[in-house]
Amino acid sequence: MRVNEIFYSLQGEGHYTGTPAVFLRLSGCNMKCPFCDTQHTSFTEMTEEEIASHVSRFPARHIVITGGEPTMQLNAKLTALLHNEGFFIQIETNGSLPLQDGVSLDWITCSPKDAPIAIQRIDELKVLFMNQDMSQYDGIQAKEYRLQPLDSGNEKENAENLQQTINYILEHPKWNLSLQTHKIINVQ
Ligand code: SF4
Repeated sequence: MRVNEIFYSLQGEGHYTGTPAVFLRLSGCNMKCPFCDTQHTSFTEMTEEEIASHVSRFPARHIVITGGEPTMQLNAKLTALLHNEGFFIQIETNGSLPLQDGVSLDWITCSPKDAPIAIQRIDELKVLFMNQDMSQYDGIQAKEYRLQPLDSGNEKENAENLQQTINYILEHPKWNLSLQTHKIINVQ
């Protein structure tokens, strides 16, 4: 498998915010979002066994598999090995690809991009708010709905984005605010 990076930190966003977690970033993505700020193209080839052994050296048993787009590579062999090591497996996906047969996950966080949803299940729908037409998410079923202000990299714009996100949530209380707390507390 093509692995971009493995690191240990706190989950910064969404339902498991604050949870110590091993992050496995798989290389490559099927989308080209103009606002993408994730460096995921470089990679090291690792077998599923090597990945499971490497991530098991960390003390936590929560793993976040992200990308890029993790469903491009994620397979049943890796999720079985991780479950054998006692991991709770969360993925962060754009939801545009189906999971491969036999892939077993404990929590699916989906941030849809400009493509139809193809993933079989969503636990947490996490939408970046940029004043878009929100009716496009009406038919998407999830356990939790989170709205996160877009980080434009500009302090003034970010303050406006945050206020617009809060205003939207107050008018549409199905949504909850999601903040990128890892940026606030300055961890990876
Ligand atoms: S789906 Fe995510 S990783 Fe892929 S290009 Fe878009 S923002 Fe970047």
